[in-house]
Amino acid sequence: MKTQYYHFFYILFFSFINLSTHYDWGFYAHKQINYLATFTLPEPLFGFYKEHIHFIKNEAIAPDQRRRMLPNEDIKHYIDIDHWEKELPLDTLPKDLWEAVYKHSVWETTIQKEKVIDSFPFAQIQEIFEVDSSELSNQFRKAFYKHSDYHNFEIQDSFFLSNQKFQIIDNFSTYGIAPYNIEQSIHLLTKAFVEKDVYKIIKRSADLGHYLADIHVPLHTTSNYNGQLTNQKGIHSLWETQVPELFFENYNLFTGQASYSNDIKELVWQTVTESHQLVNKTLAAEMLTKAELKPEHIKCFEDRKNRTIWKYCDKFVEKYNSNINNAPEERLKDAIQTIGSIWLTCWVNAGQPDPKTFQKNSLENMNEIEFKKYELITTGSHSRS
Ligand SMILES: [Zn+2]
Repeated sequence: MKTQYYHFFYILFFSFINLSTHYDWGFYAHKQINYLATFTLPEPLFGFYKEHIHFIKNEAIAPDQRRRMLPNEDIKHYIDIDHWEKELPLDTLPKDLWEAVYKHSVWETTIQKEKVIDSFPFAQIQEIFEVDSSELSNQFRKAFYKHSDYHNFEIQDSFFLSNQKFQIIDNFSTYGIAPYNIEQSIHLLTKAFVEKDVYKIIKRSADLGHYLADIHVPLHTTSNYNGQLTNQKGIHSLWETQVPELFFENYNLFTGQASYSNDIKELVWQTVTESHQLVNKTLAAEMLTKAELKPEHIKCFEDRKNRTIWKYCDKFVEKYNSNINNAPEERLKDAIQTIGSIWLTCWVNAGQPDPKTFQKNSLENMNEIEFKKYELITTGSHSRS
């Protein structure tokens, strides 16, 4: 009980400091979620995470920054569930990435050594080339897992079968691989705990926190991610940015303790399902709010960097939040607890190594930007970006 009060004090204290600074709020929410997830942890993990809390908080936005630089990064932040499943439950989408790509990809091959390239869906490959289906899937799986780190993962690959070269054309990942990537991130964090590598632990914890936060947002699970298919453009930032910006101060973010998960994969897919269940409500509440308000209370305009931009008016945001029963706060709280629980589970699955034995010299692997963020811990300053 004493520990809980102690954690809660930190939440109040640091929340106040951070709220007094100007932030890009999309980034702000991610940072807060990683930050607050730390306080759900039990000892001795809490002591370790607290020591590195500013890095874990500031690095929460690194995956979004990588989106501009790395070609395979973008697909890790979402999954268009409705492209694959017309309705819940999620019972036709394979939960292993190789299987999902296998099921939905097109395969190209050069026929009879002539320079004729044709492409086939999986079902036809078996028929045309009379290949055994289990041999085919084995070969595919082997080729697929040649690259075990998704951070450098090229899903396009090729392999030989009966002297025939097959090129896999990935038609799956473009619709998002968020839950599959999370599974890989979980694996990487667990490995970092086994290796007792401080740098990898804090870096991968920060990354994992970001990806888990993303799948708590309904609009990260649909092809209509910004309302562009239903004439509701702007709804993405309404949910992720404007609602938390207006209400964060009033949120009760005391989520309780992290808990060990016996089925971590199920927890991730359950989270995706819960988010996706909210997609229709997310869109319907926006339409309802529009119908309830006068046009001048829907879109408001402001000048920013020589450009006029529009945002939903505060009155609209307030009404929207009430029409959706405060769902963004609930998802945010759930994200905090899920992240804590998954960090904890990775540590337990790694054999609960004592943080006192972790290798601090691994911090030398930081790049310059990361080091600047890390340095804040020793100076006691707070980031302004
Ligand atoms: Zn993201």
